[in-house]
Amino acid sequence: MIYLDYAAATPMSDLAIEAMSHFLKDDFFNPSAAYLPAKKVRAEYEDAKNTIAHCIGAKGTDIIMTSGATEANNLAFSILNVQQTKPKCLILATEHDSVLKVATNYNYELIKVDKTGLIDLKDFRAKLTDDVALVSVALANNEIGTIQPIAEIATIIRESRLDRLKSGNKMPLFLHSDASQAMNLIDINVARMGVDLLTLNSAKVYGPKGVGALYVSHDVRLKPQIYGGGQENGLRSGTENVAGVIGFAAAFKYAKEHINGNRKKYTDLVKLLQEKLTDNSIIPQFLGNVKHKLTNFCTISYPGLDAERLIFKLEEQEIYVSTGAACAASKGQKSQTLTAIGLSDQEINGSLRITLGTQTTKEDIEEFASTLKTLVNEEASRIGLKGVNHE
Ligand code: PLP
Repeated sequence: MIYLDYAAATPMSDLAIEAMSHFLKDDFFNPSAAYLPAKKVRAEYEDAKNTIAHCIGAKGTDIIMTSGATEANNLAFSILNVQQTKPKCLILATEHDSVLKVATNYNYELIKVDKTGLIDLKDFRAKLTDDVALVSVALANNEIGTIQPIAEIATIIRESRLDRLKSGNKMPLFLHSDASQAMNLIDINVARMGVDLLTLNSAKVYGPKGVGALYVSHDVRLKPQIYGGGQENGLRSGTENVAGVIGFAAAFKYAKEHINGNRKKYTDLVKLLQEKLTDNSIIPQFLGNVKHKLTNFCTISYPGLDAERLIFKLEEQEIYVSTGAACAASKGQKSQTLTAIGLSDQEINGSLRITLGTQTTKEDIEEFASTLKTLVNEEASRIGLKGVNHE
């Protein structure tokens, strides 16, 4: 098989499986129990949280473990439930559904993006009114891989906070970022980014699924979503997923240490893929921002062709890629990101998301490109589409 859908799921690394296995069977104790073996499990759990925190330049006590990035994103928005008045939130138009949908419970506005998916800072400044309490912008987009200038956004927010201080406006203003897709390729540091809340996702970094985390800066107050035994600073009750968190920590630490090597590997392989796909009578549009893009992303569109048909035909040859965001695609919804960057329905329907990972080889890329070109040419001749150059 050729798997090129790493943005949807990553296989677990041997390192993570090894780190976890011990805690699934032998050291299964509840970390809240009072006897010594349980206390040892508590110590290992806290150690794993410290490792995760260290990977983003934070302290273990600033990290709330969750069941994934969806829950972490939802928890971040609970900041809006602790304000006296009804505050507003601003979210980027290309956010993942777990941000878009939770925002609909509040007074929210979308920040525009340009056609490469980059935030429109002018639109952001105009919408950053005195009643905004939360801004949520993902570090990197999950459909086209565009990386946002979070530090610049944080500077604008700091300026706005100062203005509020001067004018006696007591409404707090916080910045949240979902870093799910960026963790393998960007050296994340919460202080450098200037974020108050940051979402992490184990499932995208070769760790177990169903594990995530929210970094919460010490001056942020959240409202618990899940009540019970008071675990995770009272914000996320329930017996800790010890093995999952330990697997996540091992996987994230490894990924962090290999960022540079991976970045170079994917840059070269994506360049090769683009060259191969361009060497055809039907050339795709390459989506996303050339300069500010996760290097493992190659999202393309063949306007006029049906990407779903291409995916089924690829699947027959055990080649797996995705159309737009996997979850939006599976529900038959139109991709929010591709709509926000201004693509036509034809362009959206012809879009494929190809994402590379640690196991991707040059041979995979060559075979994939050659198979895709054959299928594209067959499909184009079936519907009478002439070769077009989109460059
Ligand atoms: N945020 C982003 C950017 C994602 O890509 C995903 C998953 O695809 C999520 C959040 C949700 O993650 P999970 O399903 O692990 O909760």
